[in-house]
Amino acid sequence: MRYFVICSITVTLFFCILEIECCPRIVSRAQWGARKPRSVSRILPVRYVVIHHTVTGFCNTQASCSSQIRSIQRYHMDSRGWSDIGYNFLVGGDGNIYEGRGWNVEGAHARGLNRNGIGISFIGNFQARSAPANMMAAAKKLIQCGLRKVYIMRNYQLKGHRDVNPTSCPGNKLYRQMNNLR
Ligand SMILES: [Zn+2]
Repeated sequence: MRYFVICSITVTLFFCILEIECCPRIVSRAQWGARKPRSVSRILPVRYVVIHHTVTGFCNTQASCSSQIRSIQRYHMDSRGWSDIGYNFLVGGDGNIYEGRGWNVEGAHARGLNRNGIGISFIGNFQARSAPANMMAAAKKLIQCGLRKVYIMRNYQLKGHRDVNPTSCPGNKLYRQMNNLR
């Protein structure tokens, strides 16, 4: 039993170094069909993790989530005039994490915390509807991954967008669920 525990910890660390085991599956920009960003910059690790919702329809397949994300990117780049999609990562109802700007690039999602925070946005509207368990598990795993890789400071603070800017984001239901992401 003891041998098994030590063995499984060793195997986990080994795969973690290989970036296989300790992070959730992340659908890359190429996989969801992203356009190229216009600029990039960031200094890691960050002190804040900021939770958002997209206030779009829900999606539960990689194809439908990718399509949602492409239209969010189009809106952020063409209507808002930003250099890229605003979020660092998105969480799909299919249980996948989608790469937005990623770990290394400053986002445009929460005024005041963009430089020092990772923005994670749940695809859908979570004002009156709870985020399902698969989305919560994926987001939690992403945060754990960021902590292990020291992209996120150990003493980080978890914020809802409404804690930082005047907005209802990430919705009442998801805001109440946020403690489960720690
Ligand atoms: Zn927000």
